[in-house]
Amino acid sequence: MNRLPRLLLCSLLALAGCATHPSVLTPEAKAQQAKVAATAPLLLISIDGYRADYFDRHLSPTLEQLAATGVHADSMQPSFPSLTFPNHYAIVTGMVPDHNGIVNNNMVDTQLGKFSLKDRSAVRNGLWWDQATPLWETADANGLRTATMFWPGSEADIQGEHPDYWKKFKAKMKPNRRVDQILKWLDLPAGKRPTFLTLYFDAVDHAGHEHGPDSPEVDQALRDTDAAIAHLVDGLRKRGLFDKMNIIVVADHGMASVPKENHILIDTLMSMDDVEPVTTAGVLVGFNPKLGHDFNAVEQQMEQPHQHMHCWDKTRIPARFQYGSNARVPRLVCLADVGWSIATTESLAKKKGHVSLGEHGYDNADPKMRALFVAHGPAFQRGIRFHNFPNVDVYPLMAHLLGIRPKLSDGRFEDVQGMLKQ
Ligand code: AMP
Ligand code: ZN
Ligand code: ZN
Repeated sequence: MNRLPRLLLCSLLALAGCATHPSVLTPEAKAQQAKVAATAPLLLISIDGYRADYFDRHLSPTLEQLAATGVHADSMQPSFPSLTFPNHYAIVTGMVPDHNGIVNNNMVDTQLGKFSLKDRSAVRNGLWWDQATPLWETADANGLRTATMFWPGSEADIQGEHPDYWKKFKAKMKPNRRVDQILKWLDLPAGKRPTFLTLYFDAVDHAGHEHGPDSPEVDQALRDTDAAIAHLVDGLRKRGLFDKMNIIVVADHGMASVPKENHILIDTLMSMDDVEPVTTAGVLVGFNPKLGHDFNAVEQQMEQPHQHMHCWDKTRIPARFQYGSNARVPRLVCLADVGWSIATTESLAKKKGHVSLGEHGYDNADPKMRALFVAHGPAFQRGIRFHNFPNVDVYPLMAHLLGIRPKLSDGRFEDVQGMLKQ
């Protein structure tokens, strides 16, 4: 039962806890309650920036155990652009960024203005997110309770809805405390306990940016994150839940090493006065036309071949990127080659040498952008290796596990069905 009828029934009958009171339920509601009770909880874990091949460093023993008794994909392919917000939202909506509306970590919308990860009011404004419907909403509409221990979009009021339980993003919150919150939610009584939960870790991505993917700091972040997952598995075992729930561990993208000197100074290649810049630094930058300036001339110049970078008018972006139809994609976009980063002379000078040694956001087909996928639980086959697949497929997979009908999406259940027990 979704929230409104549940509340109405409760207030009409003035019965404390009536949502679970059997005598006031219609046969349909009883059947739904039984279905909810029979649905194995599903926990979706994201380890931001966990490149698929990090797994082979043997620094993730708990993940290795899950993989040995579950499913391990060679890799999962992120959607383009291989950035955090676009891909987290692709995973929970089944829509590629161009279709889900979160086309970049930094965006401009003619109605809404600017969006960035650090802008709390933008991140919480549902109008940025409502081009797609996250799984927690569809689960809620099907009578399932939902909980997010961080996930991009979970703080926003999307089409009037939030997850039942959610937390404000706090980068400082320790991994084990995040796990403890998940365990606390799972300890709630039936009727209140969430069936769909998310959990998010960011240390691997941070270390990848700061020190590069091949650094000892990334290795340490892999160990630390695995320890938090070990804490989770331990807590689930103690509760007798470990073998009863389905766990999917994913990453949003991989990480590529960027040598300190690999910067493309965009302002030396085009006149910044002739455009409205949307983003001018990073792996993917974008520009819109400026009133009274010849944008065609800018495009003609920028769409010529460049060293270490490609620029396209949004209508000419190669089809395999599935990118450019959304109004939030700037008219001209420039994408750095893997291992390179775009900056302006000014933005680079401001960094005073403190540049990022790892980046993502590149061509999503590049092996360095490939992400982790491990799954474990009663629905999954045991000890199988799976082929690479697009991350939008995780959405119909999760809807299947929750026994709910997915919304139309870019994901294909047929791609991933083979990882489930028959
Ligand atoms: P990036 O590496 O630029 O694609 O973004 C990754 C960063 O996004 C992480 O290091 C987090 O600090 C930040 N982040 C992740 N989830 C959230 C969230 N739900 N709200 C705000 N910031 C977030
Ligand atoms: Zn990320
Ligand atoms: Zn990152």
